[in-house]
Parts: sequence; structure tokens; C-alpha cells
Amino acid sequence: MSVVVVVGAQWGDEGKGKVVDAHLGEIDLLVHYAGGANPGQTIVAEGERLVLHIVPPGAMRQGKHVLLGQGMVIDPLVLLEELDALTDHGVRSGELQVDLRAHVVMPHHRLLDRLRDEVEGASGIPRRGIGPAYGDKTIRRGAQMGDLLYPERLQYKVEQSLKAHTPLIRELGGQAPPVSAVVDTLAKAGERLRARMVDGSRLVRDAIAAGKRILLEAPLGTMVDPDHGAYPFVVAASTVAGGAAIGAGIPPRAIERVVGVAKCYSTRSGPGPFPAEVTGDLATRLQQTGGEFSATGKPRRCGMLDIPALRFAARVNGFDALALTKLDVLSGLDQIPICVGYELDGKVCDEPPFEGLSRVTPLVETLPGWSEQLSDRRSFDDLPENAKRYVTLIEEITALRIATVGVGPDRSQMLVRDRLL
Ligand code: GDP
Repeated sequence: MSVVVVVGAQWGDEGKGKVVDAHLGEIDLLVHYAGGANPGQTIVAEGERLVLHIVPPGAMRQGKHVLLGQGMVIDPLVLLEELDALTDHGVRSGELQVDLRAHVVMPHHRLLDRLRDEVEGASGIPRRGIGPAYGDKTIRRGAQMGDLLYPERLQYKVEQSLKAHTPLIRELGGQAPPVSAVVDTLAKAGERLRARMVDGSRLVRDAIAAGKRILLEAPLGTMVDPDHGAYPFVVAASTVAGGAAIGAGIPPRAIERVVGVAKCYSTRSGPGPFPAEVTGDLATRLQQTGGEFSATGKPRRCGMLDIPALRFAARVNGFDALALTKLDVLSGLDQIPICVGYELDGKVCDEPPFEGLSRVTPLVETLPGWSEQLSDRRSFDDLPENAKRYVTLIEEITALRIATVGVGPDRSQMLVRDRLL
């Protein structure tokens, strides 16, 4: 398939990065179509650990063409810092381009987020100015990446944005930077990024016309999408497959395949209703074995696999196949509970109801577990019977085909049943 979208099927942190990295060899162009700086992917270069939030390290290392699409909000200073770090550490770097229409995360957007974290307490979600930048975009006072190349336009937009945000910055105990300093910093960054700025919509159209293989990667997961998630416990960026057409600037019909990534249990970073949540020993075990800690070190909330949420994600995204990750994390559990439905006011719901997830009670079934470690298994048939049964039962109740199963963090630890892309 030449145009494929990869989407998180749950609340984010499903292991999308690994699934995408494992398939880079099959693609020519990687497009990030929404969101901003992510919690960070670490790479080791010349013995030093580099944490990258915007630049996708795997794709750059493999010399792939990367587009940061128009649906994104981009902090040009962070982007330049990461590109410089890669060059300084001699990392082979693929071509990375930025859509002129993507919105700019300005220094005061980041400041606002930092002040909110200080006043309200860290939420477990790294705040990098993404929400305020999307807010400015929606309210029509944002700056686009292309504006960085036009000082007068930039000046006007920075003035508008700072005028709106300064009272809140003051209220939170901060000091807004002067307009001239913000304009100067952003204009300099724009000059350095000039050669990378493109009309992304045309770039993707041309790539499609040339028969290139294109992977469109969503941020986070379906359940935090601003339209489909449990509002208001959602993010600002579109996280579903439908957002890919908008965020990459292509017609919806250009998308040929939609792939979901789901963890075989649930996690959630940050606040909001989470019906399948577990506590006690099981939660601690999933956190420890699965490495379920946010970038700020806070343990992620853990839960059973949430079938209604997965069914919903399959429906709104139209998944053609699913990549299941972290089956290895469940090894050693005698019994594995899964949430097969919700009950609300005496009625059974097979998907998250509009009334909200905070009022539902999970309907739980328990499956027998397995004691064997799975990290050295290299084919689905080699899995213990109960592990196979766990996977096939998910297929049966969601009517989804699980194409790959993750049994460890390494790219080789992915059992391939069908082609994913
Ligand atoms: P994303 O935020 O959805 O892109 O998730 P990441 O790609 O950052 O994955 C989260 C973490 O899970 C990373 O440390 C991955 O290496 C790890 N991971 C991914 N798949 C598996 C798996 O099948 N088993 C285990 N144990 N870890 C995995």
C-alpha cells in the first residue's frame, strides 16, 4: 500500500514509535500530521544519550524523508536544537522538511505551560506549549511557520498573541517576554529553517503521484482526540485517522490503509476517567514490568485491556489491522482480567457512551495467564497456548485482525502474522 496511516488505539503510549520504526524500511516518506513535541525518544550517538521530541530519530538515522505536516504545532527553537545535536553527534540525517502552514509554538506558549505546571502541579503530561499554540491557532491569532520568513507579519502575530496571554502570565506570577525579543528569536530561527520550509500538501501529492510509499503517523491515541475522546480530558491535536487528511493536506480518498496500535493492557498519563483502571499489586506490576512511567517520572495509571474503547477506536478510525504491543509484560500473571463492556444505569454499553466514562462500571472477564517469558519467541505459533488465546479472543470480540504482536522493546521482538502496512 502506498499511503498508510498509523494511529494509537487507546490513550497514547501504545508503542507506536517502535511499530513505525520497525517498518521504516518499507516506506519513502514519513509524515507527522498533528501534535507537537512528544515526550521524547532517546537515541545513543557517540556514547551520548540524545532525547529528541520533534525530530523522529529512527527515520533520520535511516536517511528517510520526513515531513512535519501542516496539522502540527512546532517549536522552531526545539527543532533547531535537535537538528544541531544530530549534526554535532555525526548522526546520518535524512531530509526533514516543515510545512509552511504548521503553527508555531512561541516562547511565551512554553512559559505559560511551565507556569501552569508550577501553580497547578505537574500533570504527568509534559507541557511544551502545545495547548496554547493550538489555542492561538483556533482563535485566529497564531503564527504559521511561513510567517517566520516575513518580519512584519510575524511582528503583528506575536503582538496579538502576547497581548492576549500577558495578563494570564502575570496572574500566574510570570513575566511575559517583550515582543521585540520574541520576534527577533523567531525570525532568526526562521532564517535557519528557510531551506526546509515547503508546501507540504503539494509535497505529499507529488510523492503519491510518483508512487512513493508514505506513512502518516498520528500523535498520542484515539481516546484523547479532541472530537472523539472523553472531552474535556483530551488534547488539542487530532489523533485519529480522519485528521491525517487534514494534517497532511491530502484528500481522504488518498489514504489506502489504516493501522491501529494497541497495548494489550491500558495506560493513561494524566487525569480523566479511566474505567478499566486497576490499583494495588496488578497496577504496580504493570508499571514496573511495562516501564509505565511518564517522561516526568510519574507512574502511568494502568488498567485492563479496555475492549469498548478498542472497539470504538476501530470504528472511528476504520482500522484495517492492529499491531498489538507488550504481550510480554503480561507473563507471570495467573489470571488476566479484561474489561469486555461497561454498565451504565443498568444497561450494557459496548462502546464509550456520551454520558461519560466517569459513570460507567467495567464488566470484567478473567482469562487464564501464562508463566513463560515471551521475549525470545520469534513466531506466533511459538507462544504459550494461553497467550495465543488472549490474542485471538481480542480478535474475536473486536472483529479486528491482529497483524503483529510485540514481545519486547526491540524491533526484532515483533511476531509478524500478516503484513502490517
Ligand atoms: P508511543 O508513544 O506510542 O510511540 O510509544 P513508544 O514507541 O515510545 O513505546 C513506549 C515504550 O514501549 C518504548 O520504550 C518501547 O520500546 C516499548 N515497547 C514497544 N513495544 C513493546 C513490546 O512489545 N514489549 C515491551 N516490553 N516494550 C515495548
